[in-house]
Amino acid sequence: MSVFSYFYFKNIRSSVYSSVSLYLIEMSNQSSGMIQSRIEKDLGILKSISALITAENRINTNKVRPILQSELKRNSFKRMGVIFPDGSSITKDGKFVNLKDRKFFQKALQGNANISDTITDKIDGKKINVYAVPIYKNTKVVAVLFATVNNDVFNKLLSISTFDGAGFSYVVKANGDVVIPPKHGGQFLHKNLFTDKHFLTEKISSQIKTDFNNRKGNMVYLDLDDQEYYLSYSPISYNDWYLLSVTPKSLVTKNFDKILKMAVYTTILILLLFLVLFAYISWIQNRYSKTLEEIVFVDEVTGGDTWIYFKKKATELISDTDQNYAFIIFDIDKFKIINDIFGWEQGDNVLKFLARKLKKSLKEGELAARVTNDNFAVLLKYEKEQDIVKRLAKFRKKISTYSMNPQTPIKLNVSCGVYRISEESALDFDVMHNKANFAKNLIKEMQNVSYIFYDDEMRNKIVWQNEIEREMNKALSKNQFNVYLQPKYSLHNSKIVGAEALVRWVHPDKGLIPPNDFIPLFEKNGFISKLDLYIFETVCKKLREWIDNGNPLVTVSVNISRVNFHNENLADILYKIASKYQIPVGFIEIEITETAVFENIENLLDIIKDLRMYGFPVSIDDFGSGYSSLNLLKDMEVDVLKLDREFFNLNTDFERSQKVVLSVISMAKDLHIKTVSEGVETIEHVDFLKQIGCDIAQGYYFAKPMPLADFEKLISLESGGIYTSVN
Ligand code: C2E
Ligand code: CA
Ligand code: CA
Repeated sequence: MSVFSYFYFKNIRSSVYSSVSLYLIEMSNQSSGMIQSRIEKDLGILKSISALITAENRINTNKVRPILQSELKRNSFKRMGVIFPDGSSITKDGKFVNLKDRKFFQKALQGNANISDTITDKIDGKKINVYAVPIYKNTKVVAVLFATVNNDVFNKLLSISTFDGAGFSYVVKANGDVVIPPKHGGQFLHKNLFTDKHFLTEKISSQIKTDFNNRKGNMVYLDLDDQEYYLSYSPISYNDWYLLSVTPKSLVTKNFDKILKMAVYTTILILLLFLVLFAYISWIQNRYSKTLEEIVFVDEVTGGDTWIYFKKKATELISDTDQNYAFIIFDIDKFKIINDIFGWEQGDNVLKFLARKLKKSLKEGELAARVTNDNFAVLLKYEKEQDIVKRLAKFRKKISTYSMNPQTPIKLNVSCGVYRISEESALDFDVMHNKANFAKNLIKEMQNVSYIFYDDEMRNKIVWQNEIEREMNKALSKNQFNVYLQPKYSLHNSKIVGAEALVRWVHPDKGLIPPNDFIPLFEKNGFISKLDLYIFETVCKKLREWIDNGNPLVTVSVNISRVNFHNENLADILYKIASKYQIPVGFIEIEITETAVFENIENLLDIIKDLRMYGFPVSIDDFGSGYSSLNLLKDMEVDVLKLDREFFNLNTDFERSQKVVLSVISMAKDLHIKTVSEGVETIEHVDFLKQIGCDIAQGYYFAKPMPLADFEKLISLESGGIYTSVN
């Protein structure tokens, strides 16, 4: 607005200046016109008198005088007379002066009617101007008729007051000499416009001179010590005279200044109004942004901090100190049930209660906020990890006292994912939130766990598992699961009497993946059923090939996870496959493996019975470890016990193991069950096993699991493996 006002006023000023200048130039034009017409009128009178003189042929002193006398009475001239070519003159009052040297006389003698500049009267010494016209006789100038007027006459014409008499006018010649001084206010000019007092600057002087040369009217602006003026001028068509008008600027612009002032005041007023309005708007905005802040920073359900506030504040806190911080995400176990059973309002009460308790348990420089639903974020300081564990336990204890109402007590519990903020971890809350959340979600699959510390290894394992799960079906269809065989050796004659089929995943990118990396996962997701059948069938195919090629045959044992024993038809299915390849069932041993808990014992026993009925030898794998128990043996008739390889782990107490193995083997002998020892790695193991009467050994001491082709080579080298039926 200020810029606008500046240009606005500047524009007004210049347009006012140009209209003032037009007005003042017009005023000088009018004044100069007045003088001009006076001169014209006077010269006209003289011309007609001259014509009269010529007509009546009165061109001598005596004849002409009566005319002059009567004419002088009728007109306002000071004096009239006739000048003869020699310069001698006669006036009506009879004065004789020689006027030969006067310019007006010379001009008129040459036939030009004219008016003189201001000269001094030769008779009375006063300032006068003289009109002169030629008198003709037969078209020849024979004398000059003249009339004088006091300079005052013109003076009076100019004195017509402008601007209450404060403006005044002059007539000057082109060279600046004053011809008619003003009636009032002559303080500027005395004799010459260009030399007097130097009130014109060089620039203005030359401007005026140029205008005079071009006989042009104009206006200039004079800035004198005491006051400012406009000087306007316009040419008079007689001689080289100019009319000058001087007008004090203050007079011309008096009203304009008033308007301008009003405009300035109005502008200032508008500006002030705008300021007030602006202040009001920013005040409103301020108030509004405060409520906005409340909306953004205060949780509408709990009244505590919001996740947005948390992130903002936590960033400040963490970057300000060397303090260790843990970022914790937790949610309420079974919160959905609380909501469903007791209603949203009660659910909200639980959230409020939690937020309150949380806030109370925080220390200076710690934070807590609700993220979404029943998800809370906490920022805790700690020295040792144990500090976090203790504080979480304390918090869980505090919230466990919650009672919605005495009749329906609910025990609140929370699951926490803990992420230790390290110096390297950038303060990216999305990443931290993800990681803590990741740990928290793992808890849901576990029992009696209420917190988990996140670490990258854990995450990688899960990521790995996810990849495996994604790819397992494709791997099966693309035959990426290969069968390796590990030979079993008779401890009586050291010959190969069997082999165990062990799966290997030959992954195109990851290489050979050992079964322990995927079997437990497949047992959890059920894929093991497919895989075990696939391996079973592969073994059947191989046996068929051996039989067809006349290769030496040995019993091959196949691992069947206990998960498969949920399927009541397992025995039928396996038998069907074996029949498909027409394998004598005695050559396929079923190893019942177990890595997960198995509850349905009844079913298991039934299936074992069926399997043996079909003729499959059945063995209990990893006997003496994990969940397989001695107790089972009393109900379960099996053909083979495979002693867990842990007994021969070099790190275990061998003497103690020996005692256990000894009694297991003697018990097996009593029950007519064959014994196989797994994980046999040393000659000492072999000697010991032989000594106590174990039947078969399997382990690195003899051979590692190997590809089928290798096994075929090995067994043919042994010059015809021995056919051993376990039946
Ligand atoms: P498992 O049934 O107890 O198989 C014997 C494991 O002991 C094999 O591990 C074998 O390589 C290893 N082993 C053999 N001799 C020695 C030794 O002298 N020292 C040591 N330290 N280890 C020895 P692998 O092949 O890694 O298989 C691991 C487990 O995966 C198996 O234990 C079995 O429970 C499971 N598994 C393997 N293949 C299958 C399958 O086709 N189906 C099912 N359900 N489980 C399978
Ligand atoms: Ca096994
Ligand atoms: Ca085993």
